[in-house]
Amino acid sequence: MQNLETPYRVLILGGTTEASELARSLAGETKIAPVLSLAGRTKSPKPPPIPYRVGGFGGIEGLKAYLHDNHVEAMVDATHPFAAQMTDHAAAAAKATGVPLIRIDRPAWRPEAGDRWISVGTMAEAAKALGPEPRRVFLTIGRNELAAFRAAPQHHYLTRSVDPPDPETRPPNCTVIEAVGPFKLDDERALIADHGIEMLVTKNAGGTATAAKLTAAREAGIPVVMVERPPLPEIDTVPDAAAALSWLMERAQGT
Ligand code: NAP
Repeated sequence: MQNLETPYRVLILGGTTEASELARSLAGETKIAPVLSLAGRTKSPKPPPIPYRVGGFGGIEGLKAYLHDNHVEAMVDATHPFAAQMTDHAAAAAKATGVPLIRIDRPAWRPEAGDRWISVGTMAEAAKALGPEPRRVFLTIGRNELAAFRAAPQHHYLTRSVDPPDPETRPPNCTVIEAVGPFKLDDERALIADHGIEMLVTKNAGGTATAAKLTAAREAGIPVVMVERPPLPEIDTVPDAAAALSWLMERAQGT
């Protein structure tokens, strides 16, 4: 039975809406002492309402050392579905140390009637899937993987990311929008119309915060190049932050 006077020490691997939601639920919760870990990809992240740290651990060995040195009793992997390396490292460190691990696995988007999706496995395949004819392409893939589209310089690209992409990674014809989700359907419709967008490229992130672009693309009849998720290790999963909170509270109370 957990001693209720000693808070249960939890490491949350963050960077997603779900991680922020879990952090908000844990703020002021005396039975649990959480630390939120951020990769540091966003230049000025909004400070979370719980203790946090920023930056890599130094691979699996670094994460194992962190878990040991900080007496972590449970880990929640609430990283982005495309942050496969961090998830692999969490799974390996959990196995080696015995620290219980749960992953918040938000369901992937699925095509609906009227959708014109082209599913691909990598950004390089996404660039090829745009075809040889010049198109006006909306890239909603963040800023770190734009370089793949330099292989298809015939298109005009509209990119959207929280921070601006490095100039050397941008394809030649590129308009940059800096914006933080969630995004509204009316705004997505207007963006597609105003920029004459003919194709959309996105990662299959799932969730509601950035799903409006898919509806707007369906309405406009434009194809969506969908980069599907990388394979992840076998880990117990929960679908949302509320379920992760229940999992933690059960462990903290020793039930
Ligand atoms: P990754 O490839 O899985 O991770 C690379 C390394 O970054 C990890 O090995 C780890 O370094 C560090 N790292 C990642 N997440 C961390 C966290 N929460 N706390 C501490 N260190 C962390 O992930 P990525 O490079 O961040 O992104 C890969 C894909 O996910 C990209 O497609 C990206 O756009 C997407 N994505 C990521 C985030 C995010 O917040 N990470 C958010 C949105 C989208 P060490 O090995 O040194 O521990």
